[in-house]
Amino acid sequence: MGTPLLSVENVTVSFNGFNALDGMSLHLMPTSIRVLIGPNGAGKSTLLDTIIGHVRPSAGRVVFKGHEITRMDEYKIVRRGICRKFQAPGILDNLTVAENLNLAARRHRECWRSFSVGLNKEVRAQVERVLTLVGLNDRKHALAGQLSHGQKQWLEIGMVVASDAELLLLDEPAAGMSHDESAQTAALIRELAKQHSLLVIDHDMAFVDQLDAPVSVMHMGRMLREGTLEEIRNDPQIAAVYLGR
Ligand code: ADP
Ligand code: MG
Repeated sequence: MGTPLLSVENVTVSFNGFNALDGMSLHLMPTSIRVLIGPNGAGKSTLLDTIIGHVRPSAGRVVFKGHEITRMDEYKIVRRGICRKFQAPGILDNLTVAENLNLAARRHRECWRSFSVGLNKEVRAQVERVLTLVGLNDRKHALAGQLSHGQKQWLEIGMVVASDAELLLLDEPAAGMSHDESAQTAALIRELAKQHSLLVIDHDMAFVDQLDAPVSVMHMGRMLREGTLEEIRNDPQIAAVYLGR
């Protein structure tokens, strides 16, 4: 089966005695998509927070590319190749689309070779590549604040991609999108999976269906079931969880 890119092993995260994650485990293979679903409060966002080092588990291990990253500082984890897109937008409205991408591409390179001659050229090439990938080439000189909601989301995904991270964590990338925008986002994510691994949280089953990827269902801080969307849909226990029974 090969070596996982990421392994979350029996992770527990407590907030004032409440276990938001309670023995959670998950394994992701390189260049793959995994969809994460589960009722509100299941611990999905906390799982992403834990992987990226934003919250620290009290038990369990997180292993990325064979190295344990549990309780490591967030910036060090980012440097190792994990990048997260939040649900809320993180773009700078008064900069252009290209400038936002330029910043994102630089952020992850500059720390160790800010004076390198090749840096500007490399960043420019990266920005052009990402603009094409996310379909914002004709908007590159527009101010980010003037983009449509869907375009802002794509810019943000672009900023995650510009970081060159191997593992991309996306929390509800299609939130608030029209049917067409969300179909384009699904196509973009499938394209990204040729070079990256993606862990994608979403509620919208029509969107999840288009990702055509294995689904993991979380409930009460742990993994409840993994399978195809079809298997998940036909599982009476999962229906019960969603209906609160
Ligand atoms: P999901 O993303 O699946 O909706 P979350 O991971 O956001 O769920 O939250 C899981 C549980 O942990 C919820 O009960 C939430 O209230 C709680 N929680 C999340 N973050 C914190 C925090 N920083 N402090 C206290 N409780 C939190
Ligand atoms: Mg959440």
